[in-house]
Amino acid sequence: MNSQIRFVGSGDAFGSGGRFQTCILGDIGGRRFLLDCGASSLIAMQAQGIDPNSVETIFLTHMHGDHCAGVPFLLMDAMLGSKRRTPLVVVGPDGTAARMEQLREALFPGSSGMAPKFPYEYREIKTGVRAEINGIAATAFAASHTPQTNPTMLRVECAGKTVTYTGDTEWTDAIIEAADGADVLVCECCFYDKPVRSHMNYLSFKTNRSKINARSVVLTHMAPNMLEHVDEIEERCAFDGMVVEL
Ligand SMILES: [Zn+2]
Ligand SMILES: [Zn+2]
Repeated sequence: MNSQIRFVGSGDAFGSGGRFQTCILGDIGGRRFLLDCGASSLIAMQAQGIDPNSVETIFLTHMHGDHCAGVPFLLMDAMLGSKRRTPLVVVGPDGTAARMEQLREALFPGSSGMAPKFPYEYREIKTGVRAEINGIAATAFAASHTPQTNPTMLRVECAGKTVTYTGDTEWTDAIIEAADGADVLVCECCFYDKPVRSHMNYLSFKTNRSKINARSVVLTHMAPNMLEHVDEIEERCAFDGMVVEL
């Protein structure tokens, strides 16, 4: 059975390199899920021939628009466009349900009175607690990023495979625990050498690389300062449409 992740969107918040915002599709053990769903994700999925209604679960790391603002678009498409009938669960940190509902009404005024004709629910998960959702065990870890976004990293385990995804964060030792024994660590790496609070740069990643016990590493969410160096670093760097077999 398939076990892979696909970088449907590998970009940062600002469209650097012409890339779509963060959206990672997991296809593991017959389960289909997204890790983050940036504002451009529905477009990216359509462009890559991925049926949004085949996704059972959407995991959100934090409440920045380049990671979560695609949800209202998926929801509106599911209700009005593609007429979804299968259940959808949106999982995220504290405040996810309220924020998604506010966002939906902000982007599509009048839509909050519309009820989906399929089972639709939010699940808010606490850091450090392993939650079972649609056949996937998900554990959130605190990330070091804009506090108002309730930032987390995610470790998801399914059918014997483990994917760890940092969301947005500067280096924190929580990455070591979240990625321990993972098949792949997907790590944001906005910058190469620019020190920016709340985001990773490659030099600090490199300094800590030996502490990470994951079978493979893929860097993503790259700003121009990092994109310029993609050809000269040894780690794999994501691009839109890239598939990683687990
Ligand atoms: Zn962010
Ligand atoms: Zn981001």
